[in-house]
Amino acid sequence: MAQPPPPYPGNEQKGYPPPQNPAYPPQQQGYGAPPGYGQPQQGYGQPQQGYTGNTTVVVAQPQVSVIQQFREAPVRTQCPHCRADVVTATRYEIGTLTWIVCLVLCLVGCDLGCCFIPFCVDGCKDVIHSCPNCQQTISRYSRM
Ligand SMILES: [Zn+2]
Repeated sequence: MAQPPPPYPGNEQKGYPPPQNPAYPPQQQGYGAPPGYGQPQQGYGQPQQGYTGNTTVVVAQPQVSVIQQFREAPVRTQCPHCRADVVTATRYEIGTLTWIVCLVLCLVGCDLGCCFIPFCVDGCKDVIHSCPNCQQTISRYSRM
């Protein structure tokens, strides 16, 4: 009575593992092929990453255009003269506002010395943005 059962499971087990084992590895190998496929994809991903870098530059362009409202602070822009990507060098120059403030101070009745104050205050002067590369003036921020 006990004999019939053992042969059966044993047979089944014996018969099962062999077919399953050979069947499995091929499947895994078949699955292993995709990794080979994945390598080309990785190779593809690298150029894409390089492309992303380019895209970032493109994204930075609108940023530059936004920053290109030249004000007091140096801005990063592309020099129209030498086409270099530079951070502008700023210097202050006596502009319209400087003279107006000077005039107003005179009209108000300040001393002679007082009306020259705006010439010493950068906040009253225009800001000249120049290219540190070619020394050309890129833009001028006028206070008026
Ligand atoms: Zn330049």
